[in-house]
Amino acid sequence: MSNRPYIVGNWKMHGTRAMLAEARAIDRAAERLLKVEVALAPPFTLIHATRKEAELIAIGAQDVHPADGGAHTGDVSASMVKDAGASFTIVGHSERRADHKETNALVKEKAEAALAAGMSVIVCVGETEEERDAGKAEAVVARQLTGSLPTGDDVAEKVTVAYEPVWAIGTGRTPTVEDVGAMHRHIREKLESIYGEAGASVRILYGGSVKPENAAELLAADEVGGALVGGASLTAESFLGIIIAAAEGEKD
Ligand code: PEP
Repeated sequence: MSNRPYIVGNWKMHGTRAMLAEARAIDRAAERLLKVEVALAPPFTLIHATRKEAELIAIGAQDVHPADGGAHTGDVSASMVKDAGASFTIVGHSERRADHKETNALVKEKAEAALAAGMSVIVCVGETEEERDAGKAEAVVARQLTGSLPTGDDVAEKVTVAYEPVWAIGTGRTPTVEDVGAMHRHIREKLESIYGEAGASVRILYGGSVKPENAAELLAADEVGGALVGGASLTAESFLGIIIAAAEGEKD
């Protein structure tokens, strides 16, 4: 597992081929910012084309079906996105948990399907505003980790966790740096209890309204190994602002 900060763009349901120019610009700039590991998760329809445009950055999917194939109209399997050029997938994003009623058990099946296909996986967790206000944020995240993370030998090195408080996604609101650090320390403890020693090197990304203006302080919080970025990854200009902040935060 690399120690470089991992900055991942999630394009969600945005993007037609016209957006490939943004991916190309991100990829070209990433060549000058090798202290940072950069990745993009475009919609399924752009995975292949984005892979062809990009020479350096990793390309991933935003979701996969737990089965490898079969009668699942409209769904896409891990081996299919891998064939299209994806080397990783996001699973368990809060928008999928909410819109598609995805449970922890289903997220875990999806993560295991991705690993079985030879991909790495970013597993998203995070509490709602009500859960935070009720003082349940850590308990909720602990339950999501226990229920959603893939298990098995040598699995940890293929896993990244993204902590994304639901109330911070797309809202312009972020937790304080102290709260981010506290939750990331809590996640680290859980990872060590799930994966043993290997849990110490699983990367934990922060996600939720990361922008060029707040990236440096959020990335400097305890145990933050990078960022999962939605809105601000849609243009090369704003995504590069975050990547540059990550590079500047790295010692030579
Ligand atoms: C996300 O959806 O993963 C996300 C973090 O979105 P945004 O950066 O727009 O809050």
